[in-house]
Amino acid sequence: MNLGVENTIDYLKEIEECRLCPRNCGVNRFTSKSGYCGSDASYSISSITLHKGEEPVISGVKGICNVFFSRCNLSCVYCQNYQISCRKGNVIEDKLELKEVLRQITFYLEKGINILGFVSPSHHIPQMKTIIATLREMGYSPTIVYNTNAYDSIDSLKSLEGFVDIYLPDFKYLDSQLSKDYSGAGNYPEIAKAAISEMYRQKGSMLTLDNEGLARSGMIIRHLVLPEHVDNSLNILDYIARELSADIHISLMAQYKPTPEVAHHKQLGRQINKDEYETVVSKLEELGILNGWIQEIESAEEYNPDFLQENPFIN
Ligand code: SF4
Repeated sequence: MNLGVENTIDYLKEIEECRLCPRNCGVNRFTSKSGYCGSDASYSISSITLHKGEEPVISGVKGICNVFFSRCNLSCVYCQNYQISCRKGNVIEDKLELKEVLRQITFYLEKGINILGFVSPSHHIPQMKTIIATLREMGYSPTIVYNTNAYDSIDSLKSLEGFVDIYLPDFKYLDSQLSKDYSGAGNYPEIAKAAISEMYRQKGSMLTLDNEGLARSGMIIRHLVLPEHVDNSLNILDYIARELSADIHISLMAQYKPTPEVAHHKQLGRQINKDEYETVVSKLEELGILNGWIQEIESAEEYNPDFLQENPFIN
């Protein structure tokens, strides 16, 4: 197979002085991985796999080919993907050659999976753009999903116009003390508000579906409800309806489960309860947010990825 790698524009130059994300580290990732995310210039990937557990318009029946980048530019103490996302120390990752990344992705595209997601891509945007551009040179044009924590810079997001079809941002906090304590980013609320506004500018609230009911363009905002922090969730929904649009598709997530790191944490050491979740669901109705999906409260038992497995979502 001709992988066409030689002709690809070198987007990686952007990380010779890395200011990809709001951490603004300025480090040369070809010679150092001392930036906040602990990432170098390689294709550091924890898994390329078929995933059927996303929203129905994303996964469909056949699933999405997800590329899970390793490490992260946030440091959420409760990270549900902690095996692959911690900034420092060992994580499950492979440093792959571009050809191998393409080989693994095209394996799924050739099977008829026409949607490709990049998970935690904010600190690997040049690698992601190179992958997409090379796939296009090879004649593949899957729908591209940018599955982000929303701690993204506006310049980086603007550079994604023409690359990304569907934005799938988390909206984690509107409380800067929470974001500082839980994710090491006191400015997360301001950054995420600006980032999601930029995504909304690019895509609006309309979700375009194909004949099979799969999303082809648009944005979906995810929010994970945390135990003891219902007010944060209510404020986020209120903000979306008030400042953006009540027509935006919202994916409300109940799947929070304490990881070993926070098993004994005073607030985070338990799953959410029914009352907490129903309060947040009621807010959706009160605000007239009708587009989107609501997880079942039992979801915490279903979402237990193990990235030590070849397919992390089958265990
Ligand atoms: S991507 Fe990593 S190195 Fe670059 S600015 Fe963000 S945290 Fe720093």
